[in-house]
Parts: sequence; structure tokens; C-alpha cells
Amino acid sequence: MCITKINRIRIHESLFDIALDVEKCIISSITPSDSHSAGVKAAGDKDAEGLLYLPATADMHIHLDKHFLGEPWRPLQPFISLPGQLAFEKSMLASLPTTAAERARRLIDLLLSRGTTKIRTHVDVDPQIGISHLEHVLQVREEYRGVMEIEIVAFPQQGLLRSDSLHVMKDALRAGAEFVGGVDPAGLDHAVDRSLEATFELSAEFNAGVDLHLHDPGHLGLYTISRFAELTSQAGKGGRTAVSHAYCMGQVSEAESRELAQQLKANDVAIITSVPLDRPMPRVDQLVAEGVRVHVGSDNILDAWSPFGNGDLLARGSKLAEKFGWILDDALLQTYPLISAGPLTPKEGGPASFMLVSAMNAQHAIASAPVREAVFSGGKLAGGKWAEAAGVNEADAAFA
Ligand SMILES: [Zn+2]
Repeated sequence: MCITKINRIRIHESLFDIALDVEKCIISSITPSDSHSAGVKAAGDKDAEGLLYLPATADMHIHLDKHFLGEPWRPLQPFISLPGQLAFEKSMLASLPTTAAERARRLIDLLLSRGTTKIRTHVDVDPQIGISHLEHVLQVREEYRGVMEIEIVAFPQQGLLRSDSLHVMKDALRAGAEFVGGVDPAGLDHAVDRSLEATFELSAEFNAGVDLHLHDPGHLGLYTISRFAELTSQAGKGGRTAVSHAYCMGQVSEAESRELAQQLKANDVAIITSVPLDRPMPRVDQLVAEGVRVHVGSDNILDAWSPFGNGDLLARGSKLAEKFGWILDDALLQTYPLISAGPLTPKEGGPASFMLVSAMNAQHAIASAPVREAVFSGGKLAGGKWAEAAGVNEADAAFA
């Protein structure tokens, strides 16, 4: 099924007809709807009947290779220590009957169905599994090219220095990962400066960005982020580095986290959060006020760390807005840049990746996270009720 024109899409308060260039994956025209717009006039036309336009979402923290979607239920164990949890996760992953490629496809299909068309995925590498997961994810990235934009982080989950993963990280970056990952330079590697310096040396050697998982708490975490920002500046990597989680920024005083936020802004380091409810998290309202780039990601979806999550970034944005008490219109709307892959107001010639929902306006949509009536990615119908009705599944869109 190929839809080339959608009539009566609501953009803010007004109705428009949008034409799609499926070849170029762009919106080729946006014209005000008139009395002739209702109904279906030609093959390829579809009447949105006033459904609201929203940009597609971007999930900037997701692990395609390690989740249990589509598997029998697997009970978790209490979290006692990070090394213990890492060993538990490794044994669970080794017991899965599926390949990393099969798992990646399942999760991508779920994300597409919920309106996400861009992701950053962190793929485990270590001396035991080598880059086997990464090779699968690279293959899947090609399968979904044009439908799901995928940034890949080589992720030394067992600790870069702790697990002696420098060589395998180089293999991963050579193979096609474009970000150097890392995790807890203090908690796992027991060497903040040495671990971060090794991370940035890798990023320099392979012209890669850097995306660090940081659970290290309090002032230890604060020092780590500050050093990370310094190294970003020294390496000229502003705009290409991010710290995920950064719980420590919610554990120190407001004044301390503001000072660090200003350093992050000055060095253009982003913060990525999964909006956890069970622990302190960065003060996103403060980060936004200080001009720091903030992104949202699912991180855990039914994996060895947590059973929670459903891949719905609009719902996660709603959780973020509610957590910070963003009830005013401007506050609700400031959620979109944190979760979106495009602007709230589409442009002719812009990417044709968006979703249609039943909501009064964008404020209402972030507050209510309604079901996706339709998801378009690169101009193709890729998810939502329209796709279900047409018998299109996400894989069809990917391989069309
Ligand atoms: Zn993660």
C-alpha cells in the first residue's frame, strides 16, 4: 500500500493536505485543506479527517541486542552489586535461543509501531562475545535503512579497562560503530581519569562520538562528568558527546548541578535520561533552562535489568513532563525537542517521518500519549492503526 497524499491533517489549529515523495523520503508539499479535501479522490490519497500531526520520535538510549521481547517470561533477581548484575545478564543473554539480529528486528518493529524512526543503540562488546552482537546489528541497520535511522555505540558493558576491552572496542569502531561507549569509570574501572582518557583516545583515533553510561553517584559522578566535559572540549568533540543516566546530578544540591549544567552547555555535552521513577535523576527542568541538550531514551525494555518499558517515547515524554510538573502549555511543548526526530511544524522538503494521533493539540498529546493512528517513516506507512488495517507490518515497510 502506497499513500502519496494525506488530506486534512491538523497542524496546530489548521487543516492541511500533505503530499509525500516516497522516493526522496520527504514531504513534497503542504497546502491548506479546502472543501475538496474531504474523502479520497485518487489512488494513493488518504483522508486523515483532522488527526493531529506530530513529529516522529527519537529513542536515544536503547539496547537492541539484549532484551527478552518475544521470549518466555524470565524472572529477574534482586540487584545486589553491579559486577553481580553484569554476570547475571551475561548468563541470561547466553541462554537466549534467538540471535542478536532477531532480537534487534523485534525491538525495531515495536519502536516503529509506536512512532520512533531514529534510535541510538548501545551494543555490547567484550573479549568473550567479541563484536558478534555488533555484526548482527550492523546487518539489521542495512535492512532498515530508509525506515529506521540507527546510530551505533560500541558499548563495553563489562567495563572498558576492567574487562580489557580496548582491542575489541577498536574492532567495533573499525567495523562501523560511530560512538565510543563507556560505563562507570569509577564504579567498574576504578580509574576515572585513565578510563575517560582511554575512551577519548579511542574517539580521536576513529573520529567517533562518545556516549557514557554513568551510574556513579554523588560527587564522584559529578567529578566524572566535569572531567568528561573537559575532555570533550580538549578533543574538539562538542556536540558529539553525551552522558546517559547521570543520576548524580539529581543527588547533589541544585547549585552544584547548575554549575555543572553550565559547564555542559559551554562544552556542548548532552544528557540522556530514561526518566527513572525509582531513583534521583538529573533536574531536566534546570538543564533545559541552562540550555543543555537533553534527550530521552527507553534504555530498559524487558531485559535483565528491568521488566518495565514498552518502547513508547511519547509516553515516556509524558512521564517526564508529569514528573517535573510541566502543566503550562509552554512547559508541555518543551518536551517535544527532547523526544522528537523532527520539528512540531513540518516543512516542504523536510523528512516525511511523523505520526498522526487523536488529540486536541500537541500539549494534549504529550499529556495523554494517545495511540498512534498512523506512523510514517521516510514517506512510508510504517506503523499505527492504518498499517494494521492495511496489513502492513513494520518489516514490510523496511523491505518495501
Ligand atoms: Zn543502557
